[in-house]
Amino acid sequence: MPKQPFWKTTPLEAMTDEQWESLCDGCGKCCVYKIEDEDGELYQTDVCCQYFNADTCQCSDYENRLTLVPDCIQVTPKGAKEYEWLPNTCAYKLLAHGRDLPSWHPLVSGDPQSVHNENRSARNKVISEKRAGDLEDHVIAILIPDDPDSDPLSDFEADINPDNPSNQASKNSKK
Ligand code: SF4
Ligand code: SF4
Repeated sequence: MPKQPFWKTTPLEAMTDEQWESLCDGCGKCCVYKIEDEDGELYQTDVCCQYFNADTCQCSDYENRLTLVPDCIQVTPKGAKEYEWLPNTCAYKLLAHGRDLPSWHPLVSGDPQSVHNENRSARNKVISEKRAGDLEDHVIAILIPDDPDSDPLSDFEADINPDNPSNQASKNSKK
């Protein structure tokens, strides 16, 4: 019988640091803001943290992120289960809720680019908070936390026209 991959046999709490880190698919969607209204409804925006690099889809200062952005969250096994705002495609959330990794996850595909090639990341879809203005003006869809098919940012077709002032601003804000 073929050996099962570690994420099918090892609980999140028991993973090594290396295994845990490798679960992150690099989608960057946790660095893109959501809004919660008074009824607890969550809305996805296309506005990202000022330290998010929308080309590489990575934090531009990962080492210092928790100091630079006090709201920046370190995902933990407990948080993976409890944070409703985490993208439904987030590998930590998927596993915490007993689901499997998708075919486009780099650990499954063997290709770090598959998350981008399959349109499952925030790459080049977002505007920096430094330039965006009011978050409320950037809502793109409702985020349904317990629906694995609710993936508004992936479904969002960003206007990548370089003449669009918003996109110009986003380019200028990258680190
Ligand atoms: S949403 Fe999850 S998988 Fe995607 S970058 Fe954030 S921690 Fe990694
Ligand atoms: S500081 Fe970095 S990791 Fe934290 S939200 Fe901003 S871009 Fe993402």
